Amino acid sequence: MHPFTLSMAADQTQAVEAHARDTHLTFIAGGTDLLGLMKDRVTLPERLLDINGLPDMAKVKALPDGGLRIGALARMSDVAANTAVRERFPAIAEGLLFAASGQLRNMATMGGNLMQRTRCAYFRDEDNTSCNKRQPGSGCAARHGLNRNHAIFGWSDACVTTHPSDVAVALAAMDAAVVVRGPAGERTIPFTGFHRLPGSTPAQDNVLGRGDLIVAIEVPARVEGRASHYLKVRDRQSYEFALVSVAAAVAIEDGRLTSVRLAMGGVAHKPWRLYAAEEALRGTALDDTDALRSAISASFTDARPLAHNAFKLELSQRAVLRALQTAGARA
Ligand SMILES: Cc1cc2nc3c(=O)[nH]c(=O)nc-3n(C[C@H](O)[C@H](O)[C@H](O)COP(=O)(O)OP(=O)(O)OC[C@H]3O[C@@H](n4cnc5c(N)ncnc54)[C@H](O)[C@@H]3O)c2cc1C
Ligand code: SF4
Repeated sequence: MHPFTLSMAADQTQAVEAHARDTHLTFIAGGTDLLGLMKDRVTLPERLLDINGLPDMAKVKALPDGGLRIGALARMSDVAANTAVRERFPAIAEGLLFAASGQLRNMATMGGNLMQRTRCAYFRDEDNTSCNKRQPGSGCAARHGLNRNHAIFGWSDACVTTHPSDVAVALAAMDAAVVVRGPAGERTIPFTGFHRLPGSTPAQDNVLGRGDLIVAIEVPARVEGRASHYLKVRDRQSYEFALVSVAAAVAIEDGRLTSVRLAMGGVAHKPWRLYAAEEALRGTALDDTDALRSAISASFTDARPLAHNAFKLELSQRAVLRALQTAGARA
């Protein structure tokens, strides 16, 4: 194991300043992703700054208007079990419960979950495989290699991987926001703008820079929140990342969809909103399966499957249909 020092941050200001000035320093929260990356020698920080003691960052606050403020240090288990989260946004609770294992969820934080790195096997491989995300300029072994688990939307020749977070998909569907404290003060980043597409710089997963500390996640009140569902399709029933996943949230009047929110995981370098399907679904009767299928397909005309993952096209559309119907049954 690479040698490193460990210290504790006393407050947010100290954490932000230390991270901004020291390029060899990394925040550590639950450590469930970071330590694996260090063991695989993907990242070799010289100094770890433990942020677990930072005050007022571990709570889930149910806001009076129906929204939520989730501290970045809140553990995945605590957020999943929170009554307000379960009642107001079941898709968020489900996105957490279908992730990792009970032990991991007890340690893993919400901020760390959004920052976790891809599960592309080439990226995690110690044996110097070509990977532009791990070693910029080295190529992308997955582009013409084993890419069954990879993207069908938004990829570039430089990187075809997907983002692994489940709860990020539910948060994207709700148009949540990430509250970040940086060297210039606090700012709020709309969730769908937080993670990046790979373009020519796949090493950068999101828009955060040096000195940026995630403080909280804000979920605004949504009429569709209560009638929401997160569906995860994976190769085995538990302890596995998504092949594809869907967060669906709906509002219904007289059996017809008046508003729909849809996001997918396992299909792109970031949670992928299905805006065209959302639009096409408005006004559709929830029991008209053919019409639902046809509206959902509006978001798949620009899909670009790779050599080994064309199956994701059909699987995704079936998963969206099922997630919509389950969400609709909760309305
Ligand atoms: C075996 C296994 C299976 C898993 N399965 C799933 C799954 O099915 N679905 C899923 O969604 N996830 C899964 N995960 C990932 C898991 O959810 C993440 O490892 C976890 O959420 C990371 O949180 P953490 O607090 O441990 O982060 P850490 O490991 O401590 O940190 C991860 C990264 O985030 C940065 N960071 C942490 N907090 C902040 C902050 N507040 N501001 C800025 N940067 C910060 C750290 O510097 C580091 O770069 C799995 C992990 C493992 C090991
Ligand atoms: S898909 Fe991305 S992470 Fe995987 S090998 Fe290619 S560049 Fe690396």
